[in-house]
Amino acid sequence: MNLSRTVVYAGGVFTAYEDAKVGLLTHGLQYGTGCFEGIRGYWDAAERELWLLQLLEHYERLALSAKILTMKLPHTPSEMAELTRELVARNEFETDIYIRPCIFKAAEDIGVRLHGVPDAFAIIPIPFKKYLDVTGGLRTCTSSWRRVDDSCAPPRAKITGLYVNSALAKSEAQENGFDEAIMLSHDGHVAEGSAENIFLVRRGVLYTPDPSQNVLEGCTRRSIMEIARNEFSIPIVERSIDRGELYCADEIFFTGTAIGVLHVASVDRREVGDGAMGPITRKLSEFYDRAVRAREPRYRDWVTPTYAERRAPV
Ligand code: PMP
Repeated sequence: MNLSRTVVYAGGVFTAYEDAKVGLLTHGLQYGTGCFEGIRGYWDAAERELWLLQLLEHYERLALSAKILTMKLPHTPSEMAELTRELVARNEFETDIYIRPCIFKAAEDIGVRLHGVPDAFAIIPIPFKKYLDVTGGLRTCTSSWRRVDDSCAPPRAKITGLYVNSALAKSEAQENGFDEAIMLSHDGHVAEGSAENIFLVRRGVLYTPDPSQNVLEGCTRRSIMEIARNEFSIPIVERSIDRGELYCADEIFFTGTAIGVLHVASVDRREVGDGAMGPITRKLSEFYDRAVRAREPRYRDWVTPTYAERRAPV
């Protein structure tokens, strides 16, 4: 993908991707001292509108990640939301997109630390279709890599350096012929995928690891719980989950901004149910897909239109 002419926000200005550079010794690159977000935009060709999903929720999480790393964002969450809308509009995208805001330690010198190092903030939007291109569900395995523990570095913050953990698990899974990894935490309980939260369905109840299980507090996780509770009255239990429960589940699915809702067909070569997408996964996934495209009036506040102003009557 040629991004050179894509407009990005960096150093406090809108500029071309090719003109926004970071140096080789940048702390964020060398030490992983940064945090970021992943935000989705869904293009509606009929309405000619690009719907930006949960801008405020993502920027509130970025603010918490930054706080954990003692970084200072240059804008409030609502300012960053508006900056993002303007940035996307300047690019005149007419496709699904992914937006990557990030803040990182920007000094170019040697010496790992957080304090006394200046921060830099940027937002990079890119055209984006599917993150995981699988039809028929994901074949997953439990990873031999454990999810990083909060006592080492907090996984509830979306920290750049922590993605080494995800990358090790993901590559191990794919190189062994699976699509995705399920990471267990240090004590052997189910944590999450490499970039997804996980849900199990058993006897009509939805189970997901509670936020103390070394998981990212996913925006999609929260949205799916809201839909399950409010639209379908599905009971939800947040608790620690054993590995063995993965093998007994009727349905399993992953959630994430990049993937939406994706069903898991097998875990460690054991089929989940009959391997096909289960009925609860299907109704949650279909409802979510409509809500993120502004087609569910009660969830209209989840999305921000990029171009509404452009078409407003004068
Ligand atoms: N866990 C991890 C480790 C992730 O990287 C992501 C993707 N941001 C998620 C879960 C899902 O979070 P969200 O629904 O906010 O995208």
